[in-house]
Amino acid sequence: MKDLKHLIYFERLLEDANNELMRQAKADGKVIVGYTCYHMPEVLLNIGNCVSTRIRAPKTGSMDLATYYMSNYTCEYCRALLERAIEGGYNFLDALAGVDACAQMNRCMENIEIQKLVENEKFFVSHVDIPCKVDEGAVPHLKQQLEMKILTPLKERYGVDVSDASIRKAVAEHNEVCRILTEIGNMRKLPNPPITGYEFHIITLVTYVCPKYLIVDKLRETLEELKTREPDAKSKFRARVVLIGSEIDDPDLTKLIEESGALVVMDRYCYGSTPGREEIVLTDDEPALDQICRHYMVTSMCPRYVSAEKKNQRWNFVKDAVKEYGADGAIYEQIKFCDYWGYERALASHIASEEFGIPTLSVDRPYMSRTSGQLRTRFQAFVESLEIKKINKGGKAR
Ligand code: SF4
Repeated sequence: MKDLKHLIYFERLLEDANNELMRQAKADGKVIVGYTCYHMPEVLLNIGNCVSTRIRAPKTGSMDLATYYMSNYTCEYCRALLERAIEGGYNFLDALAGVDACAQMNRCMENIEIQKLVENEKFFVSHVDIPCKVDEGAVPHLKQQLEMKILTPLKERYGVDVSDASIRKAVAEHNEVCRILTEIGNMRKLPNPPITGYEFHIITLVTYVCPKYLIVDKLRETLEELKTREPDAKSKFRARVVLIGSEIDDPDLTKLIEESGALVVMDRYCYGSTPGREEIVLTDDEPALDQICRHYMVTSMCPRYVSAEKKNQRWNFVKDAVKEYGADGAIYEQIKFCDYWGYERALASHIASEEFGIPTLSVDRPYMSRTSGQLRTRFQAFVESLEIKKINKGGKAR
């Protein structure tokens, strides 16, 4: 396939958390709000003159200092962020919108806050209490938390317009990015898609870590380009898989799977597009904030929710996605020491293979996966097993 016009530019933006567009937004006088988790409504961090960025620690090497503070039995993502904060890598942030969802991330954010690792007098860290149950009673609770811990400090410290009109404007801008990503994502259902999983991963990440007002033009252009992009007549991939699991902000993991022969056709992980890039549909008869709270709780597929309906939502979503995207199998991944995905991966991968009959690979992985020979071997073996299954069923290997 011909290279995508902006891919190298997008890749470059992912090399640094404080990338050139974030620096431009800062120079434009924007208030930069970092966050890490789907439970924090991204759209609220883009109201008024705010810009959100889902923080990452690209090219992480040693995590010795963070390990000293957090022990080596904690999630490497949390430790990588703390290590980068100790190095001064998040001094561009004006606030860090954290949630009380995962204890390890709480420790990371507490360290950033208590050790004053961001050099900015007005900087604040929030710890928003996220309900564990999704029902109408949870909406006012989450709303109150967001008002008290996010909107009020943004207004008081930075003069941010937190009115209903301002929230609705942010939703409209957010929705345009979501529409573009959804349209591109739907192309992955085609038998021979004009986009690889790696390219889609790059584009999705860019939408999380860059100011939307500075990237939307290139997203629009990329969508138009993809509409006429000719895929290779014969795909180089031998299988199609859906990828499910914990936070993946390292596109090299997708690249590793694709180099092993499986095209990643759907992403259901934190920092992915499902959920994450659905439009937020607002009505006029209720404040926008209430509707946003409901939207994020209903669409979330985080394993922190353990009610039967949420578990079924997560598991059935994967079953349906395998059909919809024409996948041959599913890969469940979990970043090492992630508690939620530790139990979800064990249980859900069993349900997928034993109850739904979906060939499934289940792996844990380091934060940076690119150099893992062990992972490469497991992906290659899984692709081979998918091919053999197909041949045994009387089908053709791809
Ligand atoms: S698994 Fe849940 S708590 Fe962890 S980052 Fe994802 S949404 Fe947040």
